[in-house]
Amino acid sequence: MKIICIGRNYAAHAAELKNDIPDEPVVFLKPDTARLRDGETFYIPSFTNDVHYEAELLVRINRMGKFIDEAFAHKYYNEVSVGIDFTARDVQSALKSKGLPWERAKAFDGSAGIGDWVSLEALGKPIDKLEFSLEKNGERVQHGQTSQMLFDVNTLIANISRFITLKVGDVIFTGTPSGVSSVKHADILTCHLEGRQVFQCKVN
Ligand code: ZN
Repeated sequence: MKIICIGRNYAAHAAELKNDIPDEPVVFLKPDTARLRDGETFYIPSFTNDVHYEAELLVRINRMGKFIDEAFAHKYYNEVSVGIDFTARDVQSALKSKGLPWERAKAFDGSAGIGDWVSLEALGKPIDKLEFSLEKNGERVQHGQTSQMLFDVNTLIANISRFITLKVGDVIFTGTPSGVSSVKHADILTCHLEGRQVFQCKVN
């Protein structure tokens, strides 16, 4: 499986990092070795002093597809979750200033927290009407509404599949709302989707 991530997909988050609103989705990848499952410990890597959490709605691809039409994109998923795009912000800022790729900041082991999958049928809501949140040590620090995405899920699938074939089991991180900040040792991070806890990890 591959992990495809979208950057700057919520206007308020683009603004908090002083990035422009993009005219097409910002796309980057994480390898499968980045996966961190619900209940596992997130270890802060030694090469960074500033790891940020970014809570994001996740979509799991369930059919292979290329050049997927936006009108049919909804046939390529039926499960969603919430996860965390862990980002070494100090490393990313240095790479960005040099115009270099972000992998050292975004693709390291354990950098993709992936929650338990929930079917859209079970949620009983369309994908563009979902709410999710991240709590740090029991206090809510991020709240996302998929209706506020700059590029909705079907647009993302159509756009990505023009240049990357999507396969069964691929995961799309759809971008983070505002409220990103640092993690420190012993923090407990918990993600909720429509009121259901789908992911939790301890930071070490
Ligand atoms: Zn992100």
